[in-house]
Amino acid sequence: RLILGIETSCDETAAAIVKNGKEIVAQVVASQIESHKRFGGVVPEIASRHHVEQITLVLEETLKQANLSYHDLNAIAVTEGPGLVGALLIGVNAAKALAFAYDLPLIGVHHIAGHIYANRLVKEFSFPLIALVVSGGHTELVYMKEHGCFEVIGETLDDAAGEAYDKVARTLNLPYPGGPHIDRLAHEGTASIDLPRAWLEEGSFHFSFSGLKSAVINTLHNAAQRGITIDPKDMAASFQQSVVEVLVEKTVRASEKYQAKQVLLSGGVAANKGLRTAMEVAFKKKKGIDLVIPPLSLCTDNAAMIAAFADVLYEKGIFGDYRMNAHPGLELTSYI
Ligand code: ATP
Ligand code: MG
Ligand code: FE
Repeated sequence: RLILGIETSCDETAAAIVKNGKEIVAQVVASQIESHKRFGGVVPEIASRHHVEQITLVLEETLKQANLSYHDLNAIAVTEGPGLVGALLIGVNAAKALAFAYDLPLIGVHHIAGHIYANRLVKEFSFPLIALVVSGGHTELVYMKEHGCFEVIGETLDDAAGEAYDKVARTLNLPYPGGPHIDRLAHEGTASIDLPRAWLEEGSFHFSFSGLKSAVINTLHNAAQRGITIDPKDMAASFQQSVVEVLVEKTVRASEKYQAKQVLLSGGVAANKGLRTAMEVAFKKKKGIDLVIPPLSLCTDNAAMIAAFADVLYEKGIFGDYRMNAHPGLELTSYI
């Protein structure tokens, strides 16, 4: 079974063809980072325009890479939400047009379900499992007892991990997106600055990063007023340690409580070297829990993950129709 996935929820125009939900046949990602950099963040109107310009080229390139035609496909899948409404609409309309033109079933996918299923392109799932989703807009612990079954057991009460990274990076005058820059600096500095960790109430799987972000800003501000310079490398290292410690500890606790056989790491922040290493160290000690971490290209936004989850929906007979729309605030709920 061959499914074409389309992803345009934010600033990546992406398409991919995935075989049986597990094997990438072709994958193309056109990033718009260069266009948004000078604004220090994604500008929705610019994102939509780029998607319009890129979508046809990205689709053509994907089929060419796969050496396939639309007639060889079994379904067209697309991100329905969450994301930027104007950006999502480009993908949704492209998918509808292709489904109509080639008489193929249409499948709507939740972007975060996609991020989780990026892991299935690496390894087959074993249930029950816990997925840690850390991206630009989400920080969630998700419990899954079977395919397509998502139970959010914890989420951020304020900023997402990626958002905190990007905001702290901006404070340190690093370019957008700041996550990779902080990651790089963190490895050159020492975590010598005392920053808070938001554990929240006992047993809570929720997260909070706005206090940490404010602490970074205040520490830098107070130091500047007193004429003290703080090495950005040390600040990056201290910030990263605070974020990673909480993410790893809560994931370990969730995996114990829910007797997980597998733990999946997903979302753009899963590309973070500090987080990847800390997760590996923590789960090496946990016998019987299999940790899966996708390659960097599958952590950030891509369409292979969308096609991967669409395969599960195809299997279960869950299809969309031509009334499909963009849903900017779509919640992650169980499909089954
Ligand atoms: P969402 O998936 O929640 O809708 P999004 O699609 O915009 O949001 P992703 O593309 O999944 O987010 O991830 C982008 C985020 O990942 C950005 O905030 C970026 O800074 C962060 N990121 C990427 N690489 C790293 C890294 N090495 N370390 C930390 N953060 C990183
Ligand atoms: Mg992005
Ligand atoms: Fe994403």
